[in-house]
Amino acid sequence: MKITDVIAHQLVVKVDEPFTSARGQYYKTKGACVVEIVTDSGLVVWGDCYGPAAVSRSIIESVYKPALIGLDPFDVEPIWEMLYNKIKDYGLSGMTISAISGVDIALWDIIGKALGQPVHKLIGGSFRKKVQAYATGFYFKNFDRMNDEAVEEALGYQAQGFKAIKMKIGLGNHRKDISRVEAVRKAVGDDMEIMVDANHSFTVPQAITIGRELERLGVSWFEEPVSPEDLDGYVEVSQALDMAVAGGENEFTKYGFRRILAARAMDIVQPDVCAAGGITECKKIAALAQASAIACVPHAWGTAIGLAATIHYLASLPETPMCLFPISPLLEYEQTFNPFRDQLAKEPITHKDGYVDVCERPGLGVDVDRAILDKYRVK
Ligand code: CA
Repeated sequence: MKITDVIAHQLVVKVDEPFTSARGQYYKTKGACVVEIVTDSGLVVWGDCYGPAAVSRSIIESVYKPALIGLDPFDVEPIWEMLYNKIKDYGLSGMTISAISGVDIALWDIIGKALGQPVHKLIGGSFRKKVQAYATGFYFKNFDRMNDEAVEEALGYQAQGFKAIKMKIGLGNHRKDISRVEAVRKAVGDDMEIMVDANHSFTVPQAITIGRELERLGVSWFEEPVSPEDLDGYVEVSQALDMAVAGGENEFTKYGFRRILAARAMDIVQPDVCAAGGITECKKIAALAQASAIACVPHAWGTAIGLAATIHYLASLPETPMCLFPISPLLEYEQTFNPFRDQLAKEPITHKDGYVDVCERPGLGVDVDRAILDKYRVK
């Protein structure tokens, strides 16, 4: 089999009700770069790249596509190394790796469809038939009613059956953050698992101060307390707090994660299959995490294609670290407005009581609705 075409679809949609994390950058549009690979066998398959879609599209069209035409898509590792070596002089991490990720995910979709097997069967098999999802949301919309807004949102997820939720924090005033988490804890009770995500808003002392209060509220993990470049800061926060510290959604490749794991900078690493290097690279990152006795719980923020790839990856991950009660690999199920997550697949990925079935259809199992691609495509 040979690759005959590679198309990077750049999609964009306006967000009706803009929202922000603590970074203060409002999301007014959502974008996606969907990779379509065509083969001489007639198979059409899909991948998804994290980050600004125009950049991924440009890298794929100008650098990767010419190198991919004519190759056998089953050579997934040689292809990964070849693409990486093409860009390593100026793109060891970041968008160049996101663009490889979209291609790699599509290659696994080809192999699965060609063999009539779901992707998880090809990457080691499945540890589980369904994965537990947690609801990511709690962005800031109306600052005048922050606590009420968060409580309403939390009760909504609880009514849907979610057993775990992740809240945004990092307002620059830790009393306000704690008051908001406290209000949600009071509303949902002790059985709901609550995580928090600061999107690297804090200094080390701020993170430790707020972390001690989050521990009192039974928060399960503290995500991105400090800036991702500050590995020493992560080590300080992790050592100072009893609660788990998580991060890594903005780290790339086994090389980047090796540095985090070797420093024991986090208790949970969060590679994104659409960013860190695709399924091929994220399997290696998970193996490094397992060998380091550190949990691997992936980040996910993408389209239905990225979400499907994440679920196959999650299905194939052992529970880590080795102990009597390890951390189960959870699915980040983002809940903000995103038609690329909800409408791009003809059969959308849904949860029941906070669990998502692992798809048994060949490849990723996503049947892309071309009308949606056409509707949102940037020419
Ligand atoms: Ca995050």
